[in-house]
Amino acid sequence: MVSTGSGLIDRLKEIVGTANILTDPQDQAPFLSDWLGKYRGTAVAVVRPGTTQEVADVMVACAAAYVPVVPQGGHTSLSGGATPDMSGCAVVLSLVRMNRIRALDPIGQTMAVDAGVILANVQNAAQEAGFFFPLSLGAEGSCTIGGNLAANAGGVAVLRYGVMRELTLGLEVVLPDGRIWNGMKALRKDNTGYALRDLFIGSEGTLGIITGAVLKLFPQPTARATAFVAVADVGAALRLLGVVRKHCGDRLTAFEFLTGETLAMIQRQIDDVRVPLGKIPAAGVLIELSDIDDEMALSARLERALGAAMDDALVTDAVVAQDNAQAKSIWRLRESVSQALVREGKAIKHDISVPVAEIADFVAAADLAVAEALPGIRPMVFGHLGDGNLHYNLMRPLAMSEEAFVAQGGLLTRIVHDQTSRRHGSISAEHGIGQLRVGEMAVCKAPLELELMQALKRLLDPDGLMNPGKLLPM
Ligand code: FAD
Repeated sequence: MVSTGSGLIDRLKEIVGTANILTDPQDQAPFLSDWLGKYRGTAVAVVRPGTTQEVADVMVACAAAYVPVVPQGGHTSLSGGATPDMSGCAVVLSLVRMNRIRALDPIGQTMAVDAGVILANVQNAAQEAGFFFPLSLGAEGSCTIGGNLAANAGGVAVLRYGVMRELTLGLEVVLPDGRIWNGMKALRKDNTGYALRDLFIGSEGTLGIITGAVLKLFPQPTARATAFVAVADVGAALRLLGVVRKHCGDRLTAFEFLTGETLAMIQRQIDDVRVPLGKIPAAGVLIELSDIDDEMALSARLERALGAAMDDALVTDAVVAQDNAQAKSIWRLRESVSQALVREGKAIKHDISVPVAEIADFVAAADLAVAEALPGIRPMVFGHLGDGNLHYNLMRPLAMSEEAFVAQGGLLTRIVHDQTSRRHGSISAEHGIGQLRVGEMAVCKAPLELELMQALKRLLDPDGLMNPGKLLPM
């Protein structure tokens, strides 16, 4: 066994080179707190291997020393998933140096990448080759493919292209004992038993280190049509979704909902962002179509759909972007929500999904229940309505201190998650369980599901060294 002290550090230096191991607290600091500034941890070392074999050797050394490992990509998790705890026992294993595009197959329309490649670089590499990689989210300039896989990320184009699990054909994974599973298959059909790939996707770094992936590519859309639409409420937005689908079919790529309170908050907090309508509506929807068609035809199609929705009194006002700059400024409104929330103050956050047809009912019931529990509470609700996924965030009543409000967090989360469970929904649609929601797993997950997950965890990670304290209750 290697000791946790200098013995392990020396061995890790041998594996990755002295320059790629950080032991000084100041050097480590950027790796030890999360994007929201909510979680902070300490670590024995931050290690940055450059190859799959180096990852494997690091895992062997850490397993021999019984040292926990916290995998980390771009460190943009919104649930504290990539931040170590305060025990100071863990090694943070950062994939940032594993940033190669390994191969692009234009016939099979696939791309093989290292897990540390930043999402935006994958999008750009696909575009340069005349293809399209559709995963798109606010953190795309920082988050990595490995983190996207471990969190089974969603984003704004799920409606058309699916979540990360649906965008991935193969994986390469280093197991907690250092063995390398080469599942880098580019197969669209493979019926040879259990889908191991799907087990690691969404496992939040608790079963192994994802080091490579084969991703699906798509034809590059040549036309986009973007609109911002005012609606009366979430129910009207859902009916609008049906109308747009009927007129536009699979061209519908994004359907993003924001309440009027959320829009007002964005305008209050972010100087150069404006709602592109005369006034802030009761609720708004960002709609985007994309196609390999011409731009005019696509805009005309969107206008026809919106005209039909206006005839049905579903839309009270609408603007269709006339050029790229207008489309960008509409998107900036949606992309500014996370930053605006951070500036607005402490939020009790929820990332729920329910069957699409039940989402209006969920919002009505949750709004009522939280207002009864805490009069004056301010729900800031937005999300990927077409996926049944809402970010149901709660802000303090204006007369209440942040401290007193945060103390109510457990009660408010119970209310929101009970409303979710009642509709057979999920308490994490895309941000992951991490540390933030781990306590909720025992309440919201069926006992048999939890038992099966824990059995798989014990099989792959019998010493419980992979990302402890995340995803599964101890
Ligand atoms: P990290 O934060 O580093 O890690 C995330 C989890 O994956 C952790 O549990 C970590 O241990 C594990 N992990 C990381 N790399 C590996 C690996 N190679 N092998 C095994 N485990 C690993 N998410 C959405 O789904 N949709 C959105 O629309 C969305 N919008 C966002 C907007 C903003 C502004 C921000 C900050 C985040 C947003 N997110 C969204 C959260 C999203 O989950 C992350 O941005 C992203 O998927 C995580 O990638 P990352 O590389 O930063 O992973």
